Amino acid sequence: MQQPKTILKNIFGYSDFRENQQEIIEHALSGQDALAIMPTGGGKSICFQIPALIKPNITLVISPLISLMKDQVETLRAHGVEVAYYNSSMSDSARNVIRNRALQNNLKLLYLSPETLVGGLEWIRSVPVSMIAVDEAHCVSMWGHDFRPEYQQIGELRKFFPDVPFLAFTATADKITRKDISEKLSLNNPSTFISSFDRPNLSLSVRSQVPKKQKEKELVEFILERPGESGIVYCLSRKETESWSNFFNSKGIQSRFYHAGMTAEERDSVQEGFINDDYQVICATIAFGMGIDKSNVRWVIHNNLPKNIEGYYQEIGRAGRDGLPSNTVLYYNMRDVILLKDFVKESNLKEVYHEKINRMLNYAEATSCRRKILLAYFGEHLTQDCGNCDICASPPDFFDGTVVAQKALSAILRTKESVGINLLIGILRGSKSIEIFERNYHTIKTYGAGGEYSFKQWQHFINQLISLGALEIAYDDQLKLKVTELGNAIIKGMDSINLTAYEERKVASKTKKQESKSDPNEELVVALKEWRKHKAKENSVPAYVILHDSSIMDLASKQPTTLDQLKDIQGFGKVKIERLGQDVLDIILSKGEPSGDTYEKTFLLYQSGKSVEEIATARNLKQQTIINHLIKLFEDGKRVNLFQFISEYELQQVKSIRQNLNDTFQLKPIHDELKGELSYPKISVAIAILNRQN
Ligand code: ADP
Ligand code: ZN
Repeated sequence: MQQPKTILKNIFGYSDFRENQQEIIEHALSGQDALAIMPTGGGKSICFQIPALIKPNITLVISPLISLMKDQVETLRAHGVEVAYYNSSMSDSARNVIRNRALQNNLKLLYLSPETLVGGLEWIRSVPVSMIAVDEAHCVSMWGHDFRPEYQQIGELRKFFPDVPFLAFTATADKITRKDISEKLSLNNPSTFISSFDRPNLSLSVRSQVPKKQKEKELVEFILERPGESGIVYCLSRKETESWSNFFNSKGIQSRFYHAGMTAEERDSVQEGFINDDYQVICATIAFGMGIDKSNVRWVIHNNLPKNIEGYYQEIGRAGRDGLPSNTVLYYNMRDVILLKDFVKESNLKEVYHEKINRMLNYAEATSCRRKILLAYFGEHLTQDCGNCDICASPPDFFDGTVVAQKALSAILRTKESVGINLLIGILRGSKSIEIFERNYHTIKTYGAGGEYSFKQWQHFINQLISLGALEIAYDDQLKLKVTELGNAIIKGMDSINLTAYEERKVASKTKKQESKSDPNEELVVALKEWRKHKAKENSVPAYVILHDSSIMDLASKQPTTLDQLKDIQGFGKVKIERLGQDVLDIILSKGEPSGDTYEKTFLLYQSGKSVEEIATARNLKQQTIINHLIKLFEDGKRVNLFQFISEYELQQVKSIRQNLNDTFQLKPIHDELKGELSYPKISVAIAILNRQN
């Protein structure tokens, strides 16, 4: 039996397992059921793909999204695995072919969409199945955030294969959903594997209350700072996706919009263009991204506050699946909260939704390490600050904000809790607006009591009072501010409160670490990406199926020169080396660093017995240059036979002329003296030999 680790290296080209992968694989090989909880990008596919390759029969993979299925199948094929998918988007005859291959045990993995189980169970039960993997398993549960009725059929499938191990995967953390998955899929006493949800390569930052114009400027700068790096801008409404996309295009940024109001073809074409790196930016509603497995999304920006942390985490998780540093920025303002709460005001789960929105707001308003807060939400506790969020980068200064809070809170009470945020700030700052005079607020004691702070500063303080629980917004009563129990205690001086000062934060620009990481020979990276794009088009697959960004980065920094050295590169399994290895080496040899290394590369090819002409072709350099390299290597004492380039007679010719010219090092006088009979390369070869002889 092949060892999982050997397969990881030989097929997938990775040296080490990630957290829980090996445990899950071994568990599956021992024939038991499991429920694995892994964050997006955690690497769950390998957990069922490797046992599938080891087990004798076919592994069925139930996966809800056709595009994702297609990607996985293409990726596996690129690694040389026998695999197919089966779904409702295929023609009858194509489905027939796959059905027959499955029934004849002529596949290692078969991807099925859940709707094919409806009515398809009859033939599927005759397939020789060794294991069943259920991707996005939370879709079976009404408690999950993405319930799909067809997933219920998987329970039926279980009845036909009572002894076949089931592996269920989800990125949903909450406990009720987990329990529900086990029950609905009738898992047999499953072991649960929970991986860390931490994605340390994602930077986290939040920008609050940024005016539209400023935001436009920031986004354009952010994107222009990242040429060739693709990303997603999430917007709340369809209309906004369109206007943002138009805006980016007007700034010369290749962008498209995506939302559920478009036809399926339109959406597919946008998705495809993004996957193939034709469009750098997609402005989308959260409908976008579910089905894409693009590993080199380098950044995700939210234009509005998401409605819960689960969704937010999944959306930012679409960045950096290849593990390379990636950025996320969340823009929000209080209006978002109002809108979100308005959406759910009729729902009978209103309380739950409100609570989720509040948790999201707390994250956005955080004054300590954001990653700690995010992970705590998923029940995980980091012992140290992450060092990769905006708060860690510049921790806020706290001050005793009790007096500030008292001013705001008592002003609210004096209006009999009948004002919203803007009006409250007007009162505190002594505004002369008509509304204030009409409502007689200029007569209350706290009118003008907060004139020392700007509108923005007050906004910042009030937001904190809300997120710290001293204030509440009455969403069902015209967004009026209400003082909570904590707020009352603060007014009475029974409790104190720390606030942070308002400060203009900037969006994280590329960190130094990131720059040097993406630095390894920019020219080579570009050349490899160009080639990848071409290759992807030729094979009609997404670019990352050919090579991941992480492989390209690894190639550009290690610059391997032999097929054997490619084994050390991320993502190069046997089949990839066979299919792509020589192409990649040729690019490296022709674009690699023109410094000391270049001689080394010529020397390696020379040692492998290649002629000057062959070396020149392989390296995309002139023959003259290669000869110069060989001369330099010869002069450095390397074993290079220069006599192949010059006859004894020619050598003697140069020797005698040179003696007459006082052993000159210059080529031209010799060349002239010989009336051009000998080429310059020959003369330089002769001089190198003569110097050695002296
Ligand atoms: P998800 O859990 O979201 O389905 P995938 O299975 O698509 O994640 O894996 C995410 C990325 O991580 C893929 O690009 C995959 O090739 C890569 N990956 C998975 N396992 C490893 C590993 N052990 N070493 C390096 N990269 C890995
Ligand atoms: Zn942090």
